[in-house]
Amino acid sequence: QHYSSFLPPLLPLNRRPTRWRTLMASTPTVAAPNKDNNNSKIVVIMGATGTGKSRLSIDLATRFFPSEIINTDKMQVYKGLDITTNKITLHERKSIRHHFLGEFDPEDGELTPSEFRHLADETISDIVSREKTPFLVGGSNSFIYSLLVEEYDPELNVFDGFHSDSVSSNLRYNCCFLWVDASLPVLFDYLNKRVDEMLESGMFEELVEFFNSEKMRNNSLSRAGLLKAIGVPEFEKYFKMYPPGKVKGGGWRDWDRVRRAVYEEAVREIKENTCQLAKRQIGKILKLRDGGWDLRRLDATTTFKMLMKGEDGGDWRRVWEKQVLEPSVKIVKRFLDE
Ligand code: ATP
Repeated sequence: QHYSSFLPPLLPLNRRPTRWRTLMASTPTVAAPNKDNNNSKIVVIMGATGTGKSRLSIDLATRFFPSEIINTDKMQVYKGLDITTNKITLHERKSIRHHFLGEFDPEDGELTPSEFRHLADETISDIVSREKTPFLVGGSNSFIYSLLVEEYDPELNVFDGFHSDSVSSNLRYNCCFLWVDASLPVLFDYLNKRVDEMLESGMFEELVEFFNSEKMRNNSLSRAGLLKAIGVPEFEKYFKMYPPGKVKGGGWRDWDRVRRAVYEEAVREIKENTCQLAKRQIGKILKLRDGGWDLRRLDATTTFKMLMKGEDGGDWRRVWEKQVLEPSVKIVKRFLDE
């Protein structure tokens, strides 16, 4: 009966001290805001899911070496589900050091924006003290906002509602913002294709293992953390009907019509929710721009159109370099030379 409900009820936050909460409490620099960081130059790469932020970050970090990358995707901070959450692979990282990527144990509960603000600020100080440039890369605008503003109020959700009045443009670092964007219909087509590619690279097998893991059977994960990753709630119904490890799996060919339909429905929901996420993320970015953040928009639409047409890899790569990478290099160079 382990599988009667995979998702545990919401646990009160702070029910037990987490590894990073203990870490924060024991770090002497916690109380004092790090004023030295005010003039620190950091490059921030923003954009909806799937727009190519990770690729751009590596392209730039290898050009503006020495630099290190701080992940600002709230799902990729946790250990596990690497394919499902789309973490950049070790090979793709090209030896650039990454922070906050798979570092947090999901059993320790949710990493909140306030905790991220504190821990990432310390990481920035550390990177800067080693005379390297920090690059922030990821799609969680709540993490980006909490980290960058001078005064952060965890009670205030600046992304609520239609207006940008509550967005603060008073930032605690010297930031250069790059926003990778693409027209929504083109991005949606690409995201649907990407979900199929993720499944081909083992996302379903990863979820089978995850749902079959001890932490899932013990209900020891907080609903607020990794369990929110797109792919987990969508496949919950499937795994309730076909519990991993209990039902003899066989291959797709052995599945009956009902099993195939339940699987297809989960995939359809993943595609739909990924597109909705992208739309919401763009809405939040526009709010930050309207609130006074100086975002430099880079249009990757043509790159994605070429990718979708299945054009030769060399061709889309050339368009990416011309329309996204080269302008970004110019912007970052000017910023770092100032
Ligand atoms: P929100 O306040 O809606 O959580 P946010 O800006 O803090 O927004 P987002 O990055 O937009 O954070 O993530 C919102 C939700 O989208 C997550 O809670 C999760 O369900 C899903 N999500 C985000 N990133 C990923 C990812 N890498 N993999 C899977 N799901 C993700």
